[in-house]
Amino acid sequence: MDCLFCKIIKKELSSEVVYEDDKFLAFKDIHPIAPVHILIIPKKHIETIEHIGPGDKELIGELFLAAKKVAKLQGVLESGYRLSFNVGKNAGQAVDHLHLHLIGGKKLTWE
Ligand code: 5GP
Ligand code: ZN
Repeated sequence: MDCLFCKIIKKELSSEVVYEDDKFLAFKDIHPIAPVHILIIPKKHIETIEHIGPGDKELIGELFLAAKKVAKLQGVLESGYRLSFNVGKNAGQAVDHLHLHLIGGKKLTWE
């Protein structure tokens, strides 16, 4: 399968990994929009939130537990951070492998 993030999971492409366990990988976004900008992805290839099903309930819950760990590791637990998914064209989703953006390290604005 020709998926950029699956290649990053398999270490066929390099990335700056900040957290990894059996189900998730978290790595620095290549074009950060804030001092802390991490992508947290399931190792299972799921295209978007639109593609999750009832069988993914546990995995998606664990994704948020992994995000909390990453927030702690990145030192933004106290200062706060944003978690977001881009879903589809209007949100600007560019990579079709589910990824949770963790953004922080500065005061964030909201459009
Ligand atoms: P999206 O717009 O799909 O929600 O976010 C995709 C994100 O992946 C973007 O923020 C983009 O900068 C990041 N990205 C795209 N290609 C790569 C890559 O090869 N390595 C890393 N580390 N990040 C990438
Ligand atoms: Zn993938």
